[in-house]
Amino acid sequence: MKTFKDLIAEVQEKGRCHRCGGCVTFCETVNYGALEADPEGTPRFKDEKKCIECGLCYMICPVIDELADELKALTGWREPIGAVLEIKTARSRDPEVLNRATDGGVITALLLYLRERGHIDGAVVSRKTGLFNRQPFLARSREEILEAAGFHFDTLPGTGLFPGVYSTYSPSVLTFKEVQERKRQVKKVAFVGPPCQIDTMRRMQVLGIVPSDTVRCYFGLFCSGNFIFGEEERRHLERLGRFDWATVRKVNIKEDLLIHLSDGQVRRLPLEELDFMKRTACFFCRDYSAEYADLSFGGLASEEGWTTVVVRNEWGRLLMKEALIASIEEPKGLSPQFPDEALEKILEWSRRKKERAENRGKVGPLS
Ligand SMILES: Cc1cc2nc3c(=O)[nH]c(=O)nc-3n(C[C@H](O)[C@H](O)[C@H](O)COP(=O)(O)OP(=O)(O)OC[C@H]3O[C@@H](n4cnc5c(N)ncnc54)[C@H](O)[C@@H]3O)c2cc1C
Ligand code: SF4
Ligand code: SF4
Ligand code: SF4
Repeated sequence: MKTFKDLIAEVQEKGRCHRCGGCVTFCETVNYGALEADPEGTPRFKDEKKCIECGLCYMICPVIDELADELKALTGWREPIGAVLEIKTARSRDPEVLNRATDGGVITALLLYLRERGHIDGAVVSRKTGLFNRQPFLARSREEILEAAGFHFDTLPGTGLFPGVYSTYSPSVLTFKEVQERKRQVKKVAFVGPPCQIDTMRRMQVLGIVPSDTVRCYFGLFCSGNFIFGEEERRHLERLGRFDWATVRKVNIKEDLLIHLSDGQVRRLPLEELDFMKRTACFFCRDYSAEYADLSFGGLASEEGWTTVVVRNEWGRLLMKEALIASIEEPKGLSPQFPDEALEKILEWSRRKKERAENRGKVGPLS
């Protein structure tokens, strides 16, 4: 039986750990207590003697891909990017949501809709804790769900100047420890995360193990990569984009990294030019569009201020249908070609990501 020791050898030491938090979360939730995440989210032994060698951390690791067939069967996955029933572009009708949202605020609008109707008790999401930093948490109230919306930057003087390491990656899966501890009040949650985290949670669902039993829906983000960087890279980014962090109003990722400045200008930085600050594990990742989610969300293919939504199953279709009546809207006069054109773009970005991962795999991990 392969165990966490094999994850160290086969995943971590090869620089391929996504830090999705799956292994730690399972081991913690089931109370084995052998693992923990270090301050940067990397899993490690907390108490090796407590490891009963159940092997489940190994099986749910998305890098190992041991449960590939079961995962595909569970989610109705089809070549080349998983199930695609519909593709929509939409936005929230709530000005408060729109004001804070990354794109059209559809994720936030759907979470609020599900919560208001009692379908979920909370959502595992991320909130801003500083410049370019996110922290996962369990949002239960409307205010907390709203707090999680967007991908914003502080614009207060001085907030951009503290030293240290910045990361856009948020290990949301680790929040399930809190969900488990509050299980009396929190029985049903929505999970929002990048493809790698959706992947590990779905593997737990395949095995029918905690904490996946609490998850009612999986909302995946399109993801071309997450970034980790220090002061030097941050300054380099400023030079590349010809901007000053103090004037940044909002940041978003679509075809490019978009830096919205307070005077209304938008700086576009091609994502290929940002490899210098991409997390190593992201170079090996093959999933752009959250292929195992119920619904996947991105800005790609939509106009500014709108979210592209990939509907992957009947549950997702029904949710979108209800929400379109209650809290979100589609653009008037939308071209009937939109779904085909959007699909083409998503396929192209997915193809590029898979190709890069395969090439990187042949070369080996970055030093
Ligand atoms: C790191 C990252 C990379 C992305 N890359 C792309 C891309 O290449 N192409 C593309 O089209 N779209 C990308 N997206 C998705 C896009 O930025 C929007 O999140 C998506 O369009 C939904 O917009 P919205 O307005 O509906 O979401 P909102 O209603 O604003 O809600 C956003 C949700 O995302 C969660 N969230 C925000 N940041 C993080 C984070 N760092 N980790 C985990 N959860 C987070 C929040 O908790 C919130 O629930 C990326 C998102 C992230 C976080
Ligand atoms: S007890 Fe199981 S889940 Fe925990 S580290 Fe050991 S093998 Fe992994
Ligand atoms: S399960 Fe996630 S955090 Fe654990 S070793 Fe695998 S990729 Fe890393
Ligand atoms: S590219 Fe995105 S989904 Fe893939 S490992 Fe990096 S953060 Fe996770």
